[in-house]
Amino acid sequence: MVEQQVKLNNGIEMPEIGFGVFQIVDAKQCETAVTQALQAGYRAIDTATAYQNETAVGRAIKKSDRKREDLFITSKLWVADASYQRAKAGIDASLDRLGLDYLDLYLLHQPYGDVIGAWRALEEAYRAGKIRAIGVSNFSTDQLKNLELTTTVKPVIDQIEINPWYQQSEAVQFIQSEGIQVEAWAPFAEGKHNVFNNRTLVKIGERYGKSAGQVILRWLYQRQIVVIPKTVHQARMAANLDIYDFVLDKQDMAQIATLDQRHSQFFSHRDPVAIDQIFGTSIRKNRTELKR
Ligand code: NAP
Repeated sequence: MVEQQVKLNNGIEMPEIGFGVFQIVDAKQCETAVTQALQAGYRAIDTATAYQNETAVGRAIKKSDRKREDLFITSKLWVADASYQRAKAGIDASLDRLGLDYLDLYLLHQPYGDVIGAWRALEEAYRAGKIRAIGVSNFSTDQLKNLELTTTVKPVIDQIEINPWYQQSEAVQFIQSEGIQVEAWAPFAEGKHNVFNNRTLVKIGERYGKSAGQVILRWLYQRQIVVIPKTVHQARMAANLDIYDFVLDKQDMAQIATLDQRHSQFFSHRDPVAIDQIFGTSIRKNRTELKR
């Protein structure tokens, strides 16, 4: 089953379902998972500098018989590189680790640090043809609006946490109304609250011969949200792509809406303690290096 495409606001197309590789830290396991995902029919891969597996992703891409132009490769700049100068080097380092001449999509991973300076570096790389589209991740609606108003290239995507427990309806509506594509990370909330056995989702799925996971991915598809589920199991890779032969009705959508807990299943990106922890390991280290 080949996934469908969405058109981004700069005119390029990306697959509606991609393959995420967060927490596949073992290089061999990551290379195998990406190889199997490409064989299963995925064309989009979502990695990041912070996942420390771009090299393994790059090896799997190189080994694959898929044409480069048929693939859609996303990576992300980590907060340690969130400044103009550092971002320029960060983009080149991602390309180098992946062994690619260009990236299809590059995101600011977090809304912290000198995001405007970093965005200027992304804009330059975009104009130079090193990146086909640029976007952000974990930006709240006000942060997104601020970026739009202070820079010249509009982000194509905001990649944010969305799952049945954190549905983000208002944010999704706003981002979409700005002409920016919403992309969901942790669509399964990484399995929290026994999501794959949730009664509501399982019962809905039974009506269509589908699993709870497939119901979630279809629910996101019907909300026009791009999604990048992660799995290291081949059968699950195939199942997560097999969502185009059924349609959730209004009642199904309304039932799923009742599962919303309206808060992140991990941490709030607006929480100063969380921001401090994210900065702690990277930015402060760089500041010390810069002072030397
Ligand atoms: P996720 O996709 O919500 O959940 C992954 C978990 O679900 C894994 O434990 C996986 O187990 C299991 N799983 C997957 N498909 C399944 C199925 N069909 N049946 C049963 N279990 C299944 O979590 P995620 O990896 O955090 O999010 C997806 C991607 O989003 C990441 O890989 C990453 O690319 C991106 N992401 C971005 C950010 C950001 O800040 N921008 C943050 C987090 C994630 P197995 O592997 O054992 O099958």
